[in-house]
Amino acid sequence: MIIQQITVLGATGSIGVSTLDVVARHPERYRVFALTGNTKVSVLAEQCRKHQPKYAVVMDVETAEQLRGLLATFQSSAEVLVGTDALCAVSSDSQVDIVMAAIVGAAGLMPTLAAVNANKKVLLANKESLVMAGHLFMEALKASSSVLLPIDSEHNAIFQCLPQKTQDLSAVGVSKLLLSASGGPFRGWTVNQMRDVTPAQACAHPNWMMGSKISVDSATLMNKGLELIEACWLFDMHADQIEIVVHPQSIVHSLVQYIDGSVIAQLGNPDMRTPIAHALAWPERIDSGVKSLDLFDVSRLEFERPNIVDFPCLELACEAARVGLDAPAILNASNEIAVQAFLDERIGFTQIADVVKESMSSAIFSEPRSLLAVQESDTKARSLAAAYVLRIES
Ligand code: NDP
Ligand code: MG
Repeated sequence: MIIQQITVLGATGSIGVSTLDVVARHPERYRVFALTGNTKVSVLAEQCRKHQPKYAVVMDVETAEQLRGLLATFQSSAEVLVGTDALCAVSSDSQVDIVMAAIVGAAGLMPTLAAVNANKKVLLANKESLVMAGHLFMEALKASSSVLLPIDSEHNAIFQCLPQKTQDLSAVGVSKLLLSASGGPFRGWTVNQMRDVTPAQACAHPNWMMGSKISVDSATLMNKGLELIEACWLFDMHADQIEIVVHPQSIVHSLVQYIDGSVIAQLGNPDMRTPIAHALAWPERIDSGVKSLDLFDVSRLEFERPNIVDFPCLELACEAARVGLDAPAILNASNEIAVQAFLDERIGFTQIADVVKESMSSAIFSEPRSLLAVQESDTKARSLAAAYVLRIES
């Protein structure tokens, strides 16, 4: 078996750690080429000791010095590189076969695109890069021989429910995509009940262990909105061909409805190692370390409609999907600012939606024809959102 070299962008995060867990189960298939992190230096150093990558990348010089110090005592010969150019270099290196794109937020865009442009097999967890620059991203993908595989559990489920090698879903009889949503920790709550919730409460997801940003997005349902936009790009569907289904058990990861009345679903225990292993080995299957689903144990599967009145972020994202242009980039940037302000306890939970709404309503949308234009929309939305956060605080 030919060993494949993998770069894990965002190795120190939740998806990164799960990826390395799956990779370590298959030393005959995969070798780690590069690992990247941002703040968790000791986690990254420990990962370098275990996986012996050629490179380790961090984002600033001081962290790099710290990492070099730790690696010297860890018997790791990893070369430490710094910054976004280094992320792009380890994503596009000719020795690399697979890139796991698991940096959170807009910071993931450039290295993920670098991997696409270098024709890698790209495992996409960083949904924000598709939300921000979907059109340019998909154009780059079409112009390359890169293979893009979704890691987001819902999109990975949809991918598994479709015939292989499908370009045009209507040609194979798909009528609708049904996107599962757990409903998050505040399912069934009203806006008033959610006003004083703390970051710790918002991050305590009932079914999934995730990074803090996506945990807050799951609690506001913004995550489902971002996923709707992600699904539009990945599967070339309109927003109105995608329905969100709240399913509190997180066992049915998503479904595809066909014109003959069939609905095909993918089920499994809520553990990201399943979609990660699926995408890593695709079109083969490998052991992920996840326990098989015991339907008798689960016993009950429930489905309900989302509550868009008490969770306005979902509607804001649907609106951005309908508007198109740079609306999703503006939505994403202002949401990142608002979520960080909430995590820093500068604004309340329900004010996340206020910040995003304010940014969206004061924006004049335009077609982002280049990455530079996307970055301009992103920067402008961030400063508008930051100014609104300051106004809320005063
Ligand atoms: P985490 O917050 O756990 O991890 C994020 C990773 O990105 C860490 O390695 C972090 O480094 C790194 N990072 C953060 N900021 C920067 C930056 N500015 N530049 C470079 N690297 C940075 O997030 P998750 O693993 O939960 O999520 C990662 C992505 O996957 C997100 O886009 C999320 O939406 C998506 N996703 C996650 C799922 C999950 O179950 N966790 C499910 C589906 C999608 P450090 O920790 O060292 O600071
Ligand atoms: Mg998801």
